[in-house]
Amino acid sequence: MTNELKRYYSDLREKNHRALLRRIEECGKKNPRLLSLLEERALVMKQLGVGSLTPANAKSRIGAIGAERRNLLISMGLPGNYLETIYTCPRCKDTGEVSDENGQTRLCTCALKKQQEQMLAGSRINERETFDRFSEGVYPTDEQKKQGLAMKRFCERYVAALPKPEKPNLLIVGQSGLGKSFFGNAIARGAIEKGVATVKTTAYQCVQSILNGIDTREDAIAPYLSAELLVLDDLGTEAMVPNITVETVFRILNERAAAFLPTVLISNLNSEELYERYGERVASRMIDGAITSIVVLRGDNLRTRVR
Ligand SMILES: [Zn+2]
Repeated sequence: MTNELKRYYSDLREKNHRALLRRIEECGKKNPRLLSLLEERALVMKQLGVGSLTPANAKSRIGAIGAERRNLLISMGLPGNYLETIYTCPRCKDTGEVSDENGQTRLCTCALKKQQEQMLAGSRINERETFDRFSEGVYPTDEQKKQGLAMKRFCERYVAALPKPEKPNLLIVGQSGLGKSFFGNAIARGAIEKGVATVKTTAYQCVQSILNGIDTREDAIAPYLSAELLVLDDLGTEAMVPNITVETVFRILNERAAAFLPTVLISNLNSEELYERYGERVASRMIDGAITSIVVLRGDNLRTRVR
């Protein structure tokens, strides 16, 4: 979890705690018995702590106190749990993390969404490159217009099938300037619009954040492993750091495939170049046809054409 996210959750818990104190004050004025119940509860916990109450006795007293409080609150027209700890996300109790069935800690959906907001604020996913704004007019030839339209329809189907497309992974390759990044962004944007917690990054930014994480001791790879959808753009432009780059890409591909999480990879490199750069172990996963749809875009460079 990033430091920014950790700060968000500690602020959130602090805010909810202050809200609870205000509720206690407000209810205590209306019915002082609620305050004495709180004191009794604190006393029971203290007695339990020093061993003057058995856990069984403490449990039954806490239960009785809770029941009386609940009844009082309901008689005042308030929810029975009005004076219990307030959680914005009951699932992770505002920690941002949950354990999965294997006991592994993962980011909660709320943390992924928050992280996405933070990433949107960092504008890695833009509002310009969306399916709505797609225009085949940018392509010079009829054949490329057809290719562009087919690509758009294909990507829209992929988004529609999220979070569980038949083949979870999508590899988009082709030379630079054919609109690959446009489609990557449009997929990310479309995924967010349907509530799929998406992380979009470039391979360069990804490796950079892993390197920064080593300095700050953050678990920088976690968001890339647990995002419901990962769009990894510009694969092949990142720095080749020994023991970091290939290992990071491997871990992302491997762990996401094991968790059936969809991943979009975008690269200027063809499959031969992917093998050369990342080695057999990683490249064979990138182009594994059993779990990956591979799209090759061909034609003239759009950027030179626009000029
Ligand atoms: Zn949560």
